[in-house]
Amino acid sequence: MTLSLGCIADDYTGASDLANTLTRQGLRTVQTIGVPADALILPEVDAVVVSLKSRSIAAASAVEKSRAAAAWLRGRGAAHLLFKICSTFDSTDQGNIGPVLEALRADAGDAIVLVTPAFPETGRSVYQGHLFVGAVLLHESPLKDHPLNPMRDSNLVRVLGRQSHCKIGLLALATVAAGGDAVRARLAVLAAEGCGAAIADAVFERDLETLGAVALHHGVSVGASGLGLGLARALRASGRGTPRPAAPDAEPAIGGAAACLAGSCSQATLLQIARAEAAMPVLRLDPDRLIAGAGGIKRAIAFAAERIGEGPLLIASSTTPDLVAALQARHGRDAAGHAIEQALAEIAAALVGLGVRRLVIAGGETSGAVVDRLGLAGFMVGAEIAAGVPVLRSVGPAPGMLLALKSGNFGGPDFFSDALRLMR
Ligand code: ADP
Repeated sequence: MTLSLGCIADDYTGASDLANTLTRQGLRTVQTIGVPADALILPEVDAVVVSLKSRSIAAASAVEKSRAAAAWLRGRGAAHLLFKICSTFDSTDQGNIGPVLEALRADAGDAIVLVTPAFPETGRSVYQGHLFVGAVLLHESPLKDHPLNPMRDSNLVRVLGRQSHCKIGLLALATVAAGGDAVRARLAVLAAEGCGAAIADAVFERDLETLGAVALHHGVSVGASGLGLGLARALRASGRGTPRPAAPDAEPAIGGAAACLAGSCSQATLLQIARAEAAMPVLRLDPDRLIAGAGGIKRAIAFAAERIGEGPLLIASSTTPDLVAALQARHGRDAAGHAIEQALAEIAAALVGLGVRRLVIAGGETSGAVVDRLGLAGFMVGAEIAAGVPVLRSVGPAPGMLLALKSGNFGGPDFFSDALRLMR
C-alpha cells in the first residue's frame, strides 16, 4: 500500500469526522483504532487516519503515541502527515498540540509547520490568528466552560506559543488570499525569523485549498477536517486519490440486531434521546447504580435481552447538567465519567453477545471506551448520516459490524432513527 496521505487524530470521533471528509473528497480512507498490528490486512486505500486517544493525556505519552503512528504511516509511503486536532483547538498550556507538533516536525525535518483549525462548514474560522466559533470568539463560546480544557483565549498564536518551545508566527488572511506563492514566501520569512509553526488564517474553503496545496510540500501539517479538505482537494488536483471511490451504499448489508447507546450529556443528545422514545424502547440508566456496581449493568442487559429480537432499542446514561454536576460532586468528575464509560462499554459487549451488529453510540469518550472494549481494529467510511458522522464498517478479524460514533453536539433531532435507516 502506498498512501497519498497519512493522518493522526487525537480522538476517535474527530478521526471519523476527518475520514468522512476525506472520503467525500474522493480519497478512499480507512480509520484505524490505534496503530494497526502488522497482521491487520487493510483494504487498498489512499489515506489512513490513525485514531488515538491523546487529546487529554500527559504530553509525553501523546508525543510517544503520535510518533509511533507517524512512523507506521511513513512506512506505508505517506509523504505528508496531517495531525488532526479539534476545530476548537481543544488543548491546555501543557499541550498536547504544541508538544506533538514539535516532535513530528523534528522527525519530518520541516523548518516550519502550517497550523489551522478552520472548518468553514461547521462555522470555525480563523482571522488575524483568532478563532471564531460561528459568530463569536472562541473564549466567548461554550468552549470557555469545557470540563477538561476550558478555552479562555481566542488568540491561537498565544495559545500555541504557551504550549511550545518554538516561536509561533501568523500567516494572515491577506497573504492566504494572495495565493500559494505568497504563502510560501511568507512561510520562508517566518522560518528565517525562527518560527517553528505558523497559525494560518482561513475563512472560506478556497483558503483551505490554498493552504492544503502548500502544506502538501511539507512533511507535516496540523489542523481539523477543514485542512483535511484542502489537502484532499490538492491531492485530487495533482492526480492522486481514487477517481471514483466505491459507492458506500454498494457494500453488502451486515444485518443482525441494532441498538443505540448514549453517554453524551450534550443538549443535542438529550433532545435526540427524547425523540427516540417515540421510535424505540428506551432504558434510562441510574448512574449511581452504574457506579456502585454490576446491578445497573445486569438490569440493562436483561432489558436488551427481552427486547432485542423485536427491533432496535436505546440505552442511555445521559442526563441534564444539574444532575451531572450533582453526581460529579458525589463521586468526583473523572471517577464518575470513567465508571459510566466502562459500564456502557460492558453493556455494548453484552449487546454484541446478544447478536447486535449495528451499533450507534453518542458521546466522544463513550465511543472510545466502547470501540476499545469491542476490540475493533478499524473502519471504512460509508454513507453520511449527519455532518461529520458517517456510517462506519468494521475491518479486521472481528465479526463485521456497522457503527456510528457521534460526538455530543452532532446530528439532527432524529439522529438515532436517521442512523439506523442508513445502517443495513
Ligand atoms: P460528549 O461527546 O457529549 O462530550 P462524552 O462521551 O465525550 O460525550 O462525555 C460524556 C461524559 O459524561 C462521559 O465521561 C460519560 O461517562 C459521562 N456521563 C454520562 N452520563 C452521565 C451522568 N448521568 N452523570 C455524569 N456523567 C455522565
